[in-house]
Amino acid sequence: MNLVLVGPPGAGKGTQAVRLQEAYGIPHISTGDMFRKAIKEETELGKKAKEYMDQGKLVPDEVTIGIVRERLSQKDCHQGFILDGFPRTVNQADALNSILADMNTSLDAVINIKVSDAEVIDRLSGRRICKSCGASYHVKFNPPKVAGVCDECDGELYQREDDNPNTIQQRLNVYSEQTSPLINYYQERDLLETINGEDSLDNVFVEIKDLLDNIK
Ligand SMILES: [Zn+2]
Repeated sequence: MNLVLVGPPGAGKGTQAVRLQEAYGIPHISTGDMFRKAIKEETELGKKAKEYMDQGKLVPDEVTIGIVRERLSQKDCHQGFILDGFPRTVNQADALNSILADMNTSLDAVINIKVSDAEVIDRLSGRRICKSCGASYHVKFNPPKVAGVCDECDGELYQREDDNPNTIQQRLNVYSEQTSPLINYYQERDLLETINGEDSLDNVFVEIKDLLDNIK
């Protein structure tokens, strides 16, 4: 099962991808996580990516496409994958098509998790991440037992640079300008499935799973 998850930042793509990974035994590939890891390790790619991400901008296509091609060629992707955060532009979608064609495969579905701007701002500005294990919390919707401390590992919680309100608005602008054409692109190719992302995480997951079980 070759899947792409599409949706604005804060739509819950990461959470759903982790659940899908468990349900279908295929890897969750998050370009955002790959970049954050590179940044943490201060690799050349990480330094390049950080400049853009700190400003709420997208990392340039040639950088992102390269890293995705490399990742998809690894053995654990042969049974399928869940792409999260890629493609974000029509140019990247074309690149993905040719990467998959080279692998003699193609996409099965593109799941569009739809969430309003107001909801995104509410969700992201309250998000806190554990410095040690990466667990995700929300000051209102999913608070840790002790404020600022991870339930799992006692690590310190922080707000990601790109979850600042100004950066969130910038990310939403970038999203609607550059990513919305993707919706049309995949609709034309009969791959798009739209899900209401403002429902509970459990209900959203059930909806996605029902949908995938029908196209399998
Ligand atoms: Zn933790």
